[in-house]
Amino acid sequence: MALLKFICNECKTVYEELTSADTRPPCPECGSPNIQRYYQGKCYFGGGVAGGSECNKSSCSSCSGCAS
Ligand SMILES: [Zn+2]
Repeated sequence: MALLKFICNECKTVYEELTSADTRPPCPECGSPNIQRYYQGKCYFGGGVAGGSECNKSSCSSCSGCAS
C-alpha cells in the first residue's frame, strides 16, 4: 500500500488515496472512474502544466501523457 496521487479527467480534482499501485480509485468528487495517476513535471498530461519536478523514468513508465 502506498499513498498515491490521482487526477480526475472529468473535474480535474487531484486527490490522494492510500491504495495499491494497480488500483484506480474513482474520483471522490464526481465518482468518475476516468482518472489517472498524477505526476508533477513534464508528465502532467504531456504539457508540463503543473510545473514542479522534471519527469523521471520511473514515472514515465506508467505515465500516459509523456512520449518518452
Ligand atoms: Zn472527478
